[in-house]
Amino acid sequence: MQNVDAQELSKFSDLAHKWWDPESEFRPLHEINPLRLGWIEQTGGPLAGRRVLDVGCGGGILAESMARQGADVLGIDLAERSLKVAQLHALEAGIASLSYREVAVEALAAEQPGRYDVVTCMEMLEHVPDPASVVQACASLVRPGGWVFFSTLHRQPKAFVHAILGAEYLLGLLPRGTHEYARFIRPSELAAWCRDSGLSLQATRGMGYNPLTRRYSLNDDTSVNYLLACRREGI
Ligand code: SAH
Repeated sequence: MQNVDAQELSKFSDLAHKWWDPESEFRPLHEINPLRLGWIEQTGGPLAGRRVLDVGCGGGILAESMARQGADVLGIDLAERSLKVAQLHALEAGIASLSYREVAVEALAAEQPGRYDVVTCMEMLEHVPDPASVVQACASLVRPGGWVFFSTLHRQPKAFVHAILGAEYLLGLLPRGTHEYARFIRPSELAAWCRDSGLSLQATRGMGYNPLTRRYSLNDDTSVNYLLACRREGI
């Protein structure tokens, strides 16, 4: 049985034609992308020349930006329409070192253990039934000493107020129903899944949105959106 929620996939598939419209429902992902890309390189080192896997890549916002930094990137997702949009966009942009595949992360882990220098899995864990299994698969896919980056939402009341009431209902930044509170993940839970999979925690960062300036920024407040960087143990 696949670790997937069909309803979650169809939410993204239905909007697939809008992935690259920076004023669409995907605007928040476009806005946070330079921040997370910068943090990935600052924390794990330059991406140029590295083999990177982006898990739950959607339309390729992060995957394509990493390829533009000179990485050799594979993006995977289970929403076929999103992958088609991602592929077309990469083709139009003429980026050769970027490919996409419709494959579950657990299946790829069985096929290509230890193949990647860097694995990213952003804003995806809160959409799957068994996020610990995704963490474990990401850990198997990265080589010893390689980096894994996650981002997700914190399961605590402030995140409900900001990410669901605020972003979906008050400010309309995201479509209503994008997020389900019960699927949010505490940083301590995510850190434990990482440790259990042989990943050692290196850094965490919070991300906030200022509704007045309409800007996102990285900060030390992990109470709503947060990012986590780990390394696979061993050499
Ligand atoms: N990581 C991208 C997209 C985040 S949106 C970014 O941050 O820009 C969440 C993505 O997770 C969607 O593309 C959705 O199709 C994908 N997704 C949801 N469940 C999945 C699963 N079980 N396996 C792979 N991808 C999944």
